[in-house]
Amino acid sequence: MSRARRSLDWGFPRWRGYGAAREAAKVRICDRHGCEEPGDCPAPKAPNSRERWYFCQKHAAEYNAQWDYFAGLEAAEREARARAERRESAGYAEAAHYGWAGSGDGTRSADEMRALEALGLAPDADFEAIKKAYRARAKDVHPDVKPGDAEAARQFQLIQTAYEVLRAAEQRRTWRG
Ligand SMILES: [Zn+2]
Repeated sequence: MSRARRSLDWGFPRWRGYGAAREAAKVRICDRHGCEEPGDCPAPKAPNSRERWYFCQKHAAEYNAQWDYFAGLEAAEREARARAERRESAGYAEAAHYGWAGSGDGTRSADEMRALEALGLAPDADFEAIKKAYRARAKDVHPDVKPGDAEAARQFQLIQTAYEVLRAAEQRRTWRG
């Protein structure tokens, strides 16, 4: 009990009872000199340090605004970290790009791979096989064959779209030579 009492007004960190004089109600006081607010916002004392300051919200914001992530790092370490961060963001940009136009097996885009799948074809199917599969499948679900069939209409639309994607890709390849 005497030890708890001693830490109330001196020593570091400073603690203070809030409200009733119950042990559980003790809160840490902001580490900013002269501030008496509860310090419930931890902030690292230095980069890569596990030591923390405990500030009130206002002083934590002030501290964070001045926080230099690279402060105290050796020049080489600083450069290595900057490089790693550039690599990370470049990797992200690349991933985002391929999310839209990824190369399935290296020669087909992700859209083409999806289109081939919709037509029940393998990734290496040539355009003759694509045309054949498209005609056969379109015939089965054509609105003239299955009038008023919503599922057939959906299938027909899907096959139609898949064929358009593959036809456009074939044209791009042919034009490029
Ligand atoms: Zn404060």
